[in-house]
Amino acid sequence: MSFTNEQLERYSRHIILKEVGVKGQNKLLESKVLVIGTGGLGAPAAMFLAAAGIGTIGLVDFDAVELSNLQRQIIHLTKDVGKPKVLSGKETIREMNPDVDVVTYHEWVSSANMKDIIHDREYDFIIDGTDNFPAKFLINDACVLTKKPFSHAGIIRFFGQTMTYVPGQGPCYRCIFQSPPPPDAVPTCKQAGVLGVMGGIIGTIQATEAIKYVLGIGELLTGSLLTYDALLMEFRKVKLSNNEKCQVCGENATIKELIDYEQAACDVKH
Ligand code: ZN
Repeated sequence: MSFTNEQLERYSRHIILKEVGVKGQNKLLESKVLVIGTGGLGAPAAMFLAAAGIGTIGLVDFDAVELSNLQRQIIHLTKDVGKPKVLSGKETIREMNPDVDVVTYHEWVSSANMKDIIHDREYDFIIDGTDNFPAKFLINDACVLTKKPFSHAGIIRFFGQTMTYVPGQGPCYRCIFQSPPPPDAVPTCKQAGVLGVMGGIIGTIQATEAIKYVLGIGELLTGSLLTYDALLMEFRKVKLSNNEKCQVCGENATIKELIDYEQAACDVKH
């Protein structure tokens, strides 16, 4: 694909990088990334993916924008309150970069639609920007079963964590965390609070992983969990290894179909 003058200018800081260049920018423009959840993590991730020129971005979210979202979900603006998040996200991305084709899925992810959404455009990389354990395990299992790479992340209060799964290159989320905690055992951001910038920092790391994966450069967070403590201003990288007994990617895996775990009562929207 040849670039227009406008694209040469738009992506000039990428093109000048020898690790990216014209070839790499073309790869980005031809790539497809699915962002599940357009909240604290997904909002900044989607914005940086769009700015980078990821050609197709899928946005999945059933929620509408609430005023309390705007402290951290920077893809949504005050005028968007009440609007479906996927629509608000699409509008922001279109205004930022017309090269990006935005596909919206105004639905909750569940065992019934997860694989269909992943296969809809055969996404190259998936970003888990969700805020609840049932969705996190669902995304992990779907990615393992369909052999898709994805970035996991979670944020709460002043703390964040992220890891990347690439099929055959390291442990999956379930290798480490096995199964969801009982509903209501772990506080949500709504109950415990979260510093607004946490999603910006961790979500932007997720976007970095997607971009590096597409370009095939650098080291990904496969086989390691990156944790971030904003109060101590400390990043730590914990080495992780495959769990042979993992129920979804281990040798004797028993999970062959997706599971709908019970949501904590406070996660359930009415
Ligand atoms: Zn596993």
